[in-house]
Amino acid sequence: MIEALGVKKRFGSHEVLRGISLSVARGEVVALIGPSGSGKSTFLRCLNHLETIDGGSVSIAGEPMARTDESGRCVYVPDPQLRRICARTGMVFQHFNLFPHLTVLQNLIEAPMVVQGLPRDAAIARADELLAKVGLTQKRDNYPARLSGGQKQRVAIARALAMQPDVMLFDEPTSALDPELTGEVLRTMRELADGRMTMLVVTHEMGFAREVAHTVAFMDQGELIAARPAREFFADPGNARAQAFLNHML
Ligand code: ATP
Ligand code: MG
Repeated sequence: MIEALGVKKRFGSHEVLRGISLSVARGEVVALIGPSGSGKSTFLRCLNHLETIDGGSVSIAGEPMARTDESGRCVYVPDPQLRRICARTGMVFQHFNLFPHLTVLQNLIEAPMVVQGLPRDAAIARADELLAKVGLTQKRDNYPARLSGGQKQRVAIARALAMQPDVMLFDEPTSALDPELTGEVLRTMRELADGRMTMLVVTHEMGFAREVAHTVAFMDQGELIAARPAREFFADPGNARAQAFLNHML
């Protein structure tokens, strides 16, 4: 579902991604872990074109999005196609990024109506179903400012799902939350995983990585150092830097 090969990204002279290759199969949950500054967020952002890549290739759901040609130049597919491919991924950020001037319901129906051209009634029906799924039906007409952090994040997840993506990308969805609120968000994510959603999750939650993820991938200094089945990774990450990171986290 996600196929990244040798993805490179630099900011000025700083090579932040040094050739990351990672694939995520349909229905697979991959936890991406690693120290601060290792390039996890940048990599996620490259997958849905919030950043442009400088080398390598990315395909989503079998459709090439960007590749590097013979001369070493990175080329993206033309714009309408690019937007269609990016729409296959839903992204949830650390800081929710809800529209503050819209109610919960309005947050959920905006993109399906504007981007997908869904009629209002159908968008509302889809939103109501998703709000029930994340347990927030009673907050439907509230503004984000009236919600707790955990509720905001569950709305953000529902909003991403409202576009019916094939893949969900999460960038530390619980790290801005008070500890007592992380559980409800992780529960929502676990339910998504149980429903066979394809997910790539940057997280510091080792419990989630161990219990929900099929695969754990470890990044350090712009490189993907290890990727193995979660159970194996926690038994033996197979790499000294990954082991040191785990020792620090557990
Ligand atoms: P964290 O766990 O703290 O979120 P991360 O693994 O997500 O870290 P990134 O945010 O991807 O790391 O950053 C990787 C490196 O790229 C860092 O050194 C960061 O300072 C740098 N970087 C990220 N975005 C930019 C940018 N827009 N301009 C310049 N440098 C950037
Ligand atoms: Mg980050």
